[in-house]
Amino acid sequence: MYKLIDLAIPIIKSNFSELKLPYKLNFAITYRCQSRCLTCNIWQMHPNNELTLDEIKLFASKNRFFKWVELTGGEPFLRSDIYDIAKAINDTNNIYMLTIPTNSLTNKDLIIRNLEKILNLGIPRVVITLSLDGYKELHDQIRGIKGNFDRVMDLAKALQELKNKHKNLSFYFGYTISRYNQGKLKETIEYVKNILPFVDFNYFHVNVGQISEHYYNNKNSNFIGEREAIKNDIRYLLKNRRFSLSPIELVENAFIRNLITYVDTGKSPMKNRSLEASIFLDSFGNVFPSIVWDYKLGNIRETSYDLIPIINSNDAKNIRKLIKEGKEPPSWTACEAYQTLVGDMHKILI
Ligand code: SF4
Repeated sequence: MYKLIDLAIPIIKSNFSELKLPYKLNFAITYRCQSRCLTCNIWQMHPNNELTLDEIKLFASKNRFFKWVELTGGEPFLRSDIYDIAKAINDTNNIYMLTIPTNSLTNKDLIIRNLEKILNLGIPRVVITLSLDGYKELHDQIRGIKGNFDRVMDLAKALQELKNKHKNLSFYFGYTISRYNQGKLKETIEYVKNILPFVDFNYFHVNVGQISEHYYNNKNSNFIGEREAIKNDIRYLLKNRRFSLSPIELVENAFIRNLITYVDTGKSPMKNRSLEASIFLDSFGNVFPSIVWDYKLGNIRETSYDLIPIINSNDAKNIRKLIKEGKEPPSWTACEAYQTLVGDMHKILI
């Protein structure tokens, strides 16, 4: 309970004042990836000199204000020390929520073994998002890996079993709408429900493809879908979702509603909370306000792994000023939009 209160305090504060320290860390722990996605070029990178476990431990011990952490990638489960990373961050930050996306291409047993250890750390909520961009042929085509869809289904079955043992685990499918799969969400959900009868619409989280030079490395890609087709997919999901009073489901509903606005206008639907409520740390130690804002604020290797000098730098002040003036790059991604929504709580209910 006290961990929930620790997260609730900065969230409530963010409704009334500007936060001095972010409570959410979006951390790309590796840029290695076995996928071949059409919408993201991270897989083309050959990263070296990524942060070591010792460096991450130092970072975690010096920055003890995170209550919600996303360990992303690349493919995060490619890091054999993912459990140690989660442990180091939890030991020092006492986090309430840990989210991890996966492409399901790492050995399933290895994922489950690491995940079981993570689940035993006592983090109240651990959320796994399985990337799924279509039914079998479509998903494998977009992801560029034959058999990837089947791997996603296998992992989903294993996670469903694991949920019976670990009440702090939940999982979703992360569906990114692009020009390759626009108009195919209904078919995909029906296809998945035939294989996994326990799945309902609330298992699906939708996103639209985003451009990010420093993260997805996809500035020159041409994958953005057509506005009306994307909106139809999103509306279809919204209409069929089971109503729930669970806070996470309410926020998810608000996220989806605002996603339609974002697709319609091309603008962020609400005041951005990047840097204030969350920051993005890449696997080389670079710090950015968000995953889409290509404005490097500094590198933790140059500040003895301390974020404070970076958060208080002149560049960071400039970012805050740009946000106040509404000049941030438009975006609406789950990595940042959730903090935006809970920082303006009444918008969740309307
Ligand atoms: S979207 Fe994910 S799985 Fe695909 S290339 Fe990028 S990091 Fe890898």
